[in-house]
Amino acid sequence: MEQKQIDVYGIAEQISTHHINGRKFHSFVIKAEMCFENDEYRDIEKTYQVYINDKDLSWDLEDGHKYNVMGFEVAEGIIMAYYTDRWGRYCNVCDAWHIEGYFVGEHEYACSEECALKLYNGDEEAFKSDLAMLDDPDLADEAPTYWTYWD
Ligand SMILES: [Zn+2]
Repeated sequence: MEQKQIDVYGIAEQISTHHINGRKFHSFVIKAEMCFENDEYRDIEKTYQVYINDKDLSWDLEDGHKYNVMGFEVAEGIIMAYYTDRWGRYCNVCDAWHIEGYFVGEHEYACSEECALKLYNGDEEAFKSDLAMLDDPDLADEAPTYWTYWD
């Protein structure tokens, strides 16, 4: 079978860690619900077994979270991944897992406006003025806070 490049999104389960010849690997099952192929996202419903070298993990693996997995389908339903990214973030204020939310300042995440305001110590004026930078093309790139979709 030709190794097909693959890019899928879905929930990770049955995570386990293996040590092989002194190297650390992880495996998990991903219940894919979306894939990216030919420059577009489309819905799929397929379960893959994923293997990844520990050094290629950019986020810890946790059961029940959504991940983006990129790799090669080396056999039917089996992915050797070279990249995984957790889809979503924990809120720095209330700990809620969220798929879209505010990125605030120096790598902080907020699930809602209420939580984002707490990261500003309640300073609504500062929060609104940082968000307003997004509307100014000269300042938008430097805006410290913005609403985004974690993908
Ligand atoms: Zn929150």
